[in-house]
Parts: sequence; C-alpha cells; structure tokens
Amino acid sequence: MKDYRIDTKCVQAGYQPKNGEPRVLPIVQSTTYKYDTSAEMAKLFDLEPGYMYTRLANPTSDAVAAKITALEGGVAGVLTSSGQAANFFSLINILGAGDHFVSAATIYGGTFNLFNVTMRKIGIDVTFVDPDADEETIAKAFRPNTKAVFGETIANPALKVLDIEKFARVAHAHGVPLIVDNTFPTPINCRPFEFGADIVTHSTTKYMEGHASTIGGAIIDSGNFDWEQNDKFPGLTTPDDSYHGAVYVRDFGKAGYITKIVAQLLRDYGSTPSPQNSFYLNLGLETLALRMERHCSNAQKIAEFLAQDERISWVNFPGLPDSPDHALAEKYMPNGTCGVISFGVKGGRDAAEKFMNNLKLAAIVTHVADARTCVLHPASSTHRQLSDQELLDCGVSADLIRLSVGIENVEDILEDIQQALAAIE
Ligand SMILES: *Cc1c(COP(=O)(O)O)cnc(C)c1O
Repeated sequence: MKDYRIDTKCVQAGYQPKNGEPRVLPIVQSTTYKYDTSAEMAKLFDLEPGYMYTRLANPTSDAVAAKITALEGGVAGVLTSSGQAANFFSLINILGAGDHFVSAATIYGGTFNLFNVTMRKIGIDVTFVDPDADEETIAKAFRPNTKAVFGETIANPALKVLDIEKFARVAHAHGVPLIVDNTFPTPINCRPFEFGADIVTHSTTKYMEGHASTIGGAIIDSGNFDWEQNDKFPGLTTPDDSYHGAVYVRDFGKAGYITKIVAQLLRDYGSTPSPQNSFYLNLGLETLALRMERHCSNAQKIAEFLAQDERISWVNFPGLPDSPDHALAEKYMPNGTCGVISFGVKGGRDAAEKFMNNLKLAAIVTHVADARTCVLHPASSTHRQLSDQELLDCGVSADLIRLSVGIENVEDILEDIQQALAAIE
C-alpha cells in the first residue's frame, strides 16, 4: 500500500481485498486451519508463514495489527487480549527471572501493580524513576542486569508527559530498548518511534476501539533496536529449542521480536484476542483520527473553562499553557494530547462527590478515553481505603476528579459541568 497519510491509514491500512473479496475486513471465526498434507502442516511448526491455531495467530487479528503497525510507523505488530497482556509481554519477551528494568514512576495503576507486585513475584525486579529526573539521575537506576526502560507517553491518570528523547538516550546508552505505552495520545497525536522509542504498546481498549465495548492490547516494534549489540537478549539471539533451534533475530530479522511473542508467549500464555473483538477494534480505528481531533478540541475548551472558574481549585491538562508539561506536550504532540483532564473543586472530598453526583450527561464509570464523557473520583472509588494524607502521598488529592471528555457537542458537556458546579454552592 502506498504510504498514505495517517487518517487514510486509519480507514484503509491492514486489509486490501483482492478481486471479488469482501470490502469489509472479514471475521475469521475459526480456531483452526485446514491443510492438504501433514507435510504442509509440519512446516508451520518450523515457523514457516501460515496459520495453524488461533491462539497463536488469526487473519482478522493480523490485519488489525498490521493497521496499528502502519499507524505507528513500525515494522511488525501483534494484538493481545488486553493492554495489561501487551505491557507484560513487551517486557517478558526480553526479560526473565533475575533481570531488572527501569520504569517511569508515573504510570497506570494496573501497570504499576503488574511491575511492583506480580513481576517481582516471578523474579523480575523494577526501579521506578521520577520522569522529570535528569539523565544522570535516571542512569543511576541501571544495573548490569537491566534489560529495558518503560514509560507512558501521557501517564494515566497523572497526565505527565514523557520526555521520550531523554528516556531513549539513557536506554540506548545502556544498550537496552525503550518501551513506550502510547495509549493516551494514540499514533494520531504522537508516534514515539520518531523520537527514539523502540517498542510501542497500547491498551486498544481506550481511544483506539473508542466505544468502551472491547478490551484489547497491541505491541508494535519499530525494527530499530539492534538486539545483537550485546549479550543481554539471548532469547532473541540464541536457538529456541521449542522450534528446532530457530534464532528469532537471525531467522526473522526485524520481525524477530514480534515473532517471538507470537511463537512463545501467545502459544504458552494464551492472551489472544478473539477475532470478533479484533473486528470491533478495526471499526473503532477507522474513525480514530476524527475522534481524536474532537476529543482534543472538546477537552481544550473544557480545560480552559475550568482554569478560569473560581469554584475550581486546580486543573491539570498538558494542553493548558501554564501546565508544567506544556513545553513537552508542544514538542511531542503539537496537534493535541488527549481528552483526559484532572482537576479539583474547592471544598475538597465532599464538594467533589456532590459535583459528580449532580452531573447528568457525564456518567460515573471506571473507564476513560471513550466516546462518552465520563468522570471518576479516585478518593471515593479506586483509592477509597486511603486517608487524605495517604492519598496525597500517592499523588491523588482528595478533591481530584478525572474527567474523560467525550465527543458529544462541547456546549452540552460545558452546560452539564456548569449546572453540577452550581448545585454544590
Ligand atoms: C487501561 C490502560 C492499560 C491497561 O489496559 P487494559 O486494556 O485495561 O488491560 C495500560 N496502560 C494504560 C496507559 C491504560 O490506560
């Protein structure tokens, strides 16, 4: 396919039907694939191209992975059943027990738990670093067994913007890849490979699918990282006995990292998306460019309104000129960041709860980043067990409201916020 512009790729990349084939990506709802001879099937178990079992690969899911790969400007990609699986696989594809990685401290709570609790239990250690720290300070977190660096382009829910070039420089100086979770900006607003990231992950559950109907994840490889530059990545550079001595980087070149995820991790852990879910994800991706534009322009207007309203104590949105991350946002996301805003209402926890209860259009849900405007008050929900001091220690003030601005008419969203603010006075 010609290298079309990104909004065209959203609609058409990944699937080009031949003469007489369905115009719309077909759902290949089959666990298995038929072969004429055992010899032909045997080739698949030597990792020759082709489909054998949907736990490993499926044509519908592959087409959608190819679309996201095209959007990110990568060389190979794979879908997983969730964003959690994508982040886990992106790391354990190159780390094992006894290894260590460095992660920005401001990351999604689910990812933080995965890194801080579950991965430690299987012998993989992590050091969290302040994303604002200078390169020398971040470099101090590295050890001889450090194998990767991880961060989120825009952290959920802290909305901290990652200095991708800084993190890439430190990672590469230590001979390890930078993995970036690009869920919040999506490739419409930021393509981390252009700034030196090596691997990109997604929770496609958010803006990519966009309608809050389908959990999913994706891992995309830039093809830029040289896995053979040192001996840190034996899983990619030495024989895999479970596939007759295949050596992923030697045999699959720039697709080696992703081929290993499919051949080993999807085979063994089975966090595979259903073809039906991949189809829904593809429908969402078709309108991603349009929706991101609206999410961003709506959020900008709402953030500007909140910033000047005297009932609001503070607003955190990287698109606001006085945001501490505004310069980073301008550099990495000049066309917009995302539709999520956090803010506080004067009057603390009680006022925050009253405000939310009075919203009529915006719904209280755990989700973020879909077409419908929604809100969450962490202090009374996800962080309910914590005292006000404990909340402050983990960066969630008692009055913090996370607002995910949808694609409704912005005047309706504004009027809803105004009437809910009026009701707490
Ligand atoms: C939601 C989210 C995840 C986890 O994704 P699921 O699809 O819910 O498993 C990971 N990273 C970020 C930034 C997220 O917002």
